[in-house]
Amino acid sequence: MLKDHLKQVEDNIAKACARAGRDRSEVTLIAVSKTKPVEMLQEIYDEGVRTFGENKVQEICEKYEQLPRDIEWHMIGHLQRNKVKQVIDKAALIHSVDSYRLAQEISVQAQKKNLCMPILIEVNIAQEESKFGIFADDTIQLVEEIAALPNLEIKGLMTIAPFVTDPEENRTYFRQIKQLSVDIKNKNIDNVSMDVLSMGMTGDYEVAIEEGATMVRVGTGIFGARNYANK
Ligand SMILES: *Cc1c(COP(=O)(O)O)cnc(C)c1O
Repeated sequence: MLKDHLKQVEDNIAKACARAGRDRSEVTLIAVSKTKPVEMLQEIYDEGVRTFGENKVQEICEKYEQLPRDIEWHMIGHLQRNKVKQVIDKAALIHSVDSYRLAQEISVQAQKKNLCMPILIEVNIAQEESKFGIFADDTIQLVEEIAALPNLEIKGLMTIAPFVTDPEENRTYFRQIKQLSVDIKNKNIDNVSMDVLSMGMTGDYEVAIEEGATMVRVGTGIFGARNYANK
């Protein structure tokens, strides 16, 4: 069953890439496995998926211990500073950096482990009160400040678009953040590459790919609906 869902998502990604004249290799599918048991992750792993997204540090740490080591774990949820220490050597990429203080803690912990941590800056592109992330207008300044910290590397931007029934409604937001990433890239800031644009979820990943996403984060579309009550 999961295999069929995955096939469908893969098929949709390939078609969106074709529509946009992009190569399939430009887009990474992140299987968002939060709340799902390791058996389900293993099933998708057996189909070749190696990139998983989680939004809780504890869940990454538990699943990290139980599943094969060639998995790339992406931290996509809000990250508290006191939990950075636990996740710093397990996550391949932290998508959710939205303050200087958080970046500073990542830098400190990365120095202790003698590694260079790749991060994305989370942008609240639609300025929704319910969401984390920095506003677009403040992003360039924050990028410049964070880029000066040692042992981290800003790889790009991430956004969670509004929850909509028609994904076309989010196209304008995806365009805005793509433009923002181009503007930042053109500033040629040290330690800042803007190669990654993490946007698009189950409801809107095809539109996101058409507008330049290089990582899409798909949960429900692969694993089915989440039941938080059972957690
Ligand atoms: C849960 C989550 C997703 C996946 O959402 P779906 O709608 O299930 O695809 C993507 N990104 C983030 C940050 C999430 O927390």
